[in-house]
Amino acid sequence: MTTTDLPYTRNFIANAWVDAADGRRMTTEDPATTLPIAEVARSSAADVDHAVAAARAATAARSWSGMRPLARGRVLTEMSRILRSRKEEFARRLTLDCGKRLSEGRAEIEGSARYLEYYGGLAAALEGKYIPLGDGYMDFVVPVPHGVTAHVIPWNYPAGMVARSLSPALAAGNAAVVKTPSLDPLSAFIFAEAALEAGLPDGVLNIVSGAGSEAGAALVAHPDIDHIVFTGSTDVGRSIMRAASERTVPVILELGGKSAAIVFADADMANVEANVVAGIFENSGQVCDSMTRLVVEDSVYDEVVERVTALTAGLSIGAGIDDHEITPLISADQLDTVEGFATRAKAYGARITTGGARLGDLPGHFMAPTIAADVEPGMELNQSEVFGPVLSILRFSTAGEAVEVANGTQYGLAAGVFTADLDRALWCAERLEAGQIHVNEWGVGGVETPFGGFKASGLGREKGLESLEGYTQSKNVGIRRLNGF
Ligand code: NAD
Repeated sequence: MTTTDLPYTRNFIANAWVDAADGRRMTTEDPATTLPIAEVARSSAADVDHAVAAARAATAARSWSGMRPLARGRVLTEMSRILRSRKEEFARRLTLDCGKRLSEGRAEIEGSARYLEYYGGLAAALEGKYIPLGDGYMDFVVPVPHGVTAHVIPWNYPAGMVARSLSPALAAGNAAVVKTPSLDPLSAFIFAEAALEAGLPDGVLNIVSGAGSEAGAALVAHPDIDHIVFTGSTDVGRSIMRAASERTVPVILELGGKSAAIVFADADMANVEANVVAGIFENSGQVCDSMTRLVVEDSVYDEVVERVTALTAGLSIGAGIDDHEITPLISADQLDTVEGFATRAKAYGARITTGGARLGDLPGHFMAPTIAADVEPGMELNQSEVFGPVLSILRFSTAGEAVEVANGTQYGLAAGVFTADLDRALWCAERLEAGQIHVNEWGVGGVETPFGGFKASGLGREKGLESLEGYTQSKNVGIRRLNGF
């Protein structure tokens, strides 16, 4: 039954498109216009049950885990090819649904294709080992999949975050249930389209859309899942860890951040500027490992504030589909949250040198890109994740002080150092408490390099070879040889 004229995407379960059991739907909007653009199923516990049962059936049939890994890898590689061949179409869908600029949407689809390509290539390289126990015995260890993996996805990279965890999970032989982000659910389904065309067996990938408190909560509490990967906020991540502990289900948690870059006086300032644009203003700051804070050496502090303010004030602002540099935030709530941080920052004594408020003249959820100078370590803006286009600037006089400020939050996702002196960069890298340290370029790394958080930023690692370990467990098979042979 159609409730509106909007395009409608059903859940994807056992390689079929199905309505929610109770027929409910929910609407997704374009953040640049606030107009509705599509409907998806609004899933309840019954739909989650259906999806988990399909994944369990695939696991029991060994249709995927029992397949020769080389052949499994080939299916993932084919899914990667399909994503690339439809990159423009998928990027436009992503941009309309989540608001980010089109060039970032294209990069996200390309990145998603890369995850499938990389882990598709690694599927057959996942090997066990032989352990000598002396005459009369043999012993080997095999990495085996967990079984059914649950993937809970945030809205800021609605395709990329699916690809990041789904690719290693499938390469290792698991069957997956994905819960799409509720605010921009459309992009997760590109993996269903690719899976159908590439010939992924029934039930190996299942995707349900719905609210976190409903479909998400039902999925993480489901008695028949064997592993959870959650990417989202630290508070929800903690609640998921509690739910998982009830059944001793392993979790990977990829959570929030408050990442800082230290800028020494000898840094190449044009390079610092370029990294500010990419580091904090990508996806309008709605990035877990954004460069949210610049910790700047005294002697260049005023110059950096001035330069960064000028470049920020000159950024183009508008709809992502027109490829503007600053695009809308995902929702009205997110805009209220981000603007609230900027307003309070002024009251707490920070100096807003540009921005500081919403752009009410535009129809969507637009926040002016904002620079807050003279932020002090104890201020809210130095401690809390804003998740918007707001850069805090702090001052330091010694390297030790800079590291202390950078480390002085509950988070530990990323950190950076800008300097011409590699020894100094390494001195800082040794002391910074974060899962990834970037020297002279924010975000150095890729699908090949492990990614994850220290402290409240998470548990476990995605990306790279290390990620595969998270999606397998070791099985040791010990044999006593009888009959004298
Ligand atoms: P969120 O925690 O609100 O939601 C994440 C997902 O969890 C969504 O699918 C949501 O529907 C679901 N959810 C919400 N409540 C739930 C519950 N009780 N049980 C089960 N599922 C539930 O996060 P968000 O607002 O979508 O994303 C922004 C956050 O994600 C930021 O904190 C950001 O730093 C973080 N993030 C981290 C990484 C990383 O790799 N570390 C990557 C992207 C985003």
